Amino acid sequence: MIMTGPLNGTFAPNSGRWVVCSKSPYTGMWGESNCGSWFGAELKKAGYDGMIISGASKEPVYIEIKDDKAEVKDARFLWGRGTEYTTMMLKDVFGDNHAMVACIGQAGENLIKFANIISEQRAAGRTGMGAIFGSKKLKAIIVKGNNLQLDVHNKDELKKSIKTARDNVKTNYGSQVLTNFGTSGTVDLYNSTGELPIKYFTLGKWDKATKISGITMVQTILIKNRFCHSCVIGCGRIIAIKEGKYKTKETEGPEYETICGYGSLILNDDLEFICYINTKCNDYGIDTVSSSGIIACIIYHFTLGNIKPRDIDGLSPNWGDTETVEKLLNKIVYREGIGDILAEGSNAFGRKFSIPQAEIATIDGLEITYHDMRSNYGMSIAYGMGAAHKGPSHNLCDLYFVLMGYPFEEINAPTITLDTYANDLEMAKCCSIMMDYRALYSSLIICSFCNPLPSQIATIIKHATGLKFGLDEIKLYGERILTMKRLFNLKMGVTPMIDKVPQILLKPLIEGGSAGKSPDFELLRKNFYNFKEWDLITGKISKSKLEFLGLDNL
Ligand code: SF4
Repeated sequence: MIMTGPLNGTFAPNSGRWVVCSKSPYTGMWGESNCGSWFGAELKKAGYDGMIISGASKEPVYIEIKDDKAEVKDARFLWGRGTEYTTMMLKDVFGDNHAMVACIGQAGENLIKFANIISEQRAAGRTGMGAIFGSKKLKAIIVKGNNLQLDVHNKDELKKSIKTARDNVKTNYGSQVLTNFGTSGTVDLYNSTGELPIKYFTLGKWDKATKISGITMVQTILIKNRFCHSCVIGCGRIIAIKEGKYKTKETEGPEYETICGYGSLILNDDLEFICYINTKCNDYGIDTVSSSGIIACIIYHFTLGNIKPRDIDGLSPNWGDTETVEKLLNKIVYREGIGDILAEGSNAFGRKFSIPQAEIATIDGLEITYHDMRSNYGMSIAYGMGAAHKGPSHNLCDLYFVLMGYPFEEINAPTITLDTYANDLEMAKCCSIMMDYRALYSSLIICSFCNPLPSQIATIIKHATGLKFGLDEIKLYGERILTMKRLFNLKMGVTPMIDKVPQILLKPLIEGGSAGKSPDFELLRKNFYNFKEWDLITGKISKSKLEFLGLDNL
């Protein structure tokens, strides 16, 4: 399913996004990936709230949509090509450079379990949605819309409420950090608090962090900001490298997760290499989080002596060894040699070489995103309770925003009064509230960096749709959406047995901002289940809760 969200096209702040959902080929659970760019807005302009793609083609195809005409076309001439070429060629064939393209690269074609869908260098990047396209032999979708007249409930009031929310978002402190320094503007801050993942989660601080930060990017290679449709923040980075090995014309720069994965996680302080590998990953259509997590896992276990060169095609990877990193990435994308196993993920690699699960940084089979939970205990819920939703994700329950003082009091998240190192019911409750709230965001398809007051979002929904919508509905609908995803996962066989955080992510670090600290995940998990009214043994949701949510028929 590819959906655009009910606010898309209204210019509500940061609402021009789109989402792709399917059962994940990587986790076997609910899969979902939310993407920026302008593709979603173009689909809406063509008159579609979304599309459902069923079945599969024998030969490569693409879908061409022009207003109310949708056709499946031959894509054999694009098969084997990267996303940049595919996008350019399709626009050329279509004859309109303003059409929007979402497509896969070689990673999706080769059914790499963590392949992306790429749109205009933005990624629908987690849970392997690119492999879903690949399995259907669907290379791309190109869309152009000209006709839409949006039918909203109360146009004048909607306009006013959108202006209020846009002004609020623009002026808040977090937005200004993102506008000025991008998502990697927090690298130095997280290096000092211990939130930055370093050397495959085994170091608490790194003296080279500044070299890869968003601030350094501004001072060296940043050309301008990039905005998704309707965005008032513009965290996207357009960069150019004028000379040297990684010389490039203007292109999309890396964001925080890629900076960490191909930077601090593997002890690489060469920002220009990160930009280069980011462009390469986008062209291949491969997730930078999972691919870097797998490569870091190999370096870690190789340097410990747990695997030998003969196990990995004669390679001898080491920390900061970018040349071998690139070779490993290429092997994964083309499933060459060891790449065939790595294309199935870190856990498959662990199974092949009898490496204990405790020493592999995955949860629910998915590489975790890059906020170290030892500096922020709530993130252990975001990751460890991933089976409530789509696997471990920083956007699922972004406790770092709560701790930065973002305005969530209206939905009872206790923002700055929360203790970052708490394992108590208050922390579990805050995580639960944020998970519900972000489930609503995912469904409205608003960027999670956009944080007006919840009451302002409720007012926008009310005027756009005519639904009775206030803070009570924000909370109720959020909980209902998260519960439906949990029900889907239960149906796929998920049990609380998979709520596990590996030891490598919990072992206290000896230095840095979180030295000596580690969340009590079991205690947090119990508190979370109790607050949610989920059974600790079966993982099922209580009957009274299902009735309250109107989901007892499920
Ligand atoms: S804040 Fe960044 S990711 Fe979010 S909508 Fe704006 S440009 Fe896109």
